[in-house]
Amino acid sequence: MSQQPASALTSPRFCNMGTFMRLQRVNSAKGLDFAIAGAPFDTASSFRTGSRFGPSAIRNISCMMKPNNVIQQVNIMEGLAGGDLGDFPIVPGYIHPTYAAIEAGVAQILQDGALPIVLGGDHSITLAELRAVAKAYGPVALIHFDSHSDLCDTVFGEKYNHGTPFRRALEEGLIDPSHCIQVGMRGSLYDPDEHKMATQLGMELIPAHKVRQMGLQALLQAIRERVGDRPCFLTFDIDFVDPAYAPGTGTPEVGGFTSYEALELIRGLTDVHFVGFDLVEVLPAYDHGEITAYLAANLVFEFLSILALQKKRGTLR
Ligand code: MN
Ligand code: MN
Repeated sequence: MSQQPASALTSPRFCNMGTFMRLQRVNSAKGLDFAIAGAPFDTASSFRTGSRFGPSAIRNISCMMKPNNVIQQVNIMEGLAGGDLGDFPIVPGYIHPTYAAIEAGVAQILQDGALPIVLGGDHSITLAELRAVAKAYGPVALIHFDSHSDLCDTVFGEKYNHGTPFRRALEEGLIDPSHCIQVGMRGSLYDPDEHKMATQLGMELIPAHKVRQMGLQALLQAIRERVGDRPCFLTFDIDFVDPAYAPGTGTPEVGGFTSYEALELIRGLTDVHFVGFDLVEVLPAYDHGEITAYLAANLVFEFLSILALQKKRGTLR
């Protein structure tokens, strides 16, 4: 049974807000294809804090989204059942109990047979999601859009930070480096060879300037080849997008991608076997006109469109 969002013709969009795309608020993901959850944790940020307000900002502006994806020719609510679980019970300032809450929440969604879609929060939260996903699927493939590789060993001498989740995920065997790809890295660095670190760890990294040289279609081909048919986790740090389009974030880097390019990249991943998705680092206090939050809502919508397409084709696993 699909759950239709309330029609804006009978209930105005600004009424009864609080869930993603005005989906039904649910307490369980049982019987659903996907479940939205927030992880409003931002105290592993190295610069600006405030992404704890990301999930609510994305949910609020997501009332603008309609169910039809014209480009993909799919209605995401037809045949696709989803709900919004609200936020995981994170503990501000305390990363380990937060990780335990996120891991348990994502594990429950997976156990209930739905695909978890988590709204951050800073990027540290992804490690906890990957812990749950790897318990269900083994080491997964990873597609990581970001202006930073988040592969630091430590930040301020600490192992758990929004700059370290993928180093920890590799160490914990949660992701299979031979099927991992990081895209969009740019900006000034302390270590001139930082972009080589991914390769040394067995992953693939395509920095922003290389994406510009190769073009989006060649990039999508490289991603598809890298991931193959493996169960794959998609993690999207909103700072992949240029701060001209996504100013509301904690560690912006100029020279990035347009909102259109970001949407195009998600649209190009229709054949990937996804097992989880998160959208992180939206920081409403630095946003203008809700453009960052609205882009984030649209990126989630494009991801949902992939699931809807796969369900329509009978390939949703
Ligand atoms: Mn990141
Ligand atoms: Mn980043």
